[in-house]
Amino acid sequence: MTCTETTPCLICQGDGPGLDIRGKHICSRCEELLLALPMGNSLYEYCKERVKLIWTDPNALVQYQ
Ligand SMILES: [Zn+2]
Repeated sequence: MTCTETTPCLICQGDGPGLDIRGKHICSRCEELLLALPMGNSLYEYCKERVKLIWTDPNALVQYQ
């Protein structure tokens, strides 16, 4: 495993510092954006759908079988 590769942010595809969850990356800018946006806002909904991909990783599901 190499630590030199940066995973692009799941939402903005940027490579800023932020959270790494299960191999996925969310930059702190998007994390703050997600927290600041009101629920129901179209951008919030978009971000939420992107974040869902972290928990619906097909590779993770295969391991249960
Ligand atoms: Zn981002």
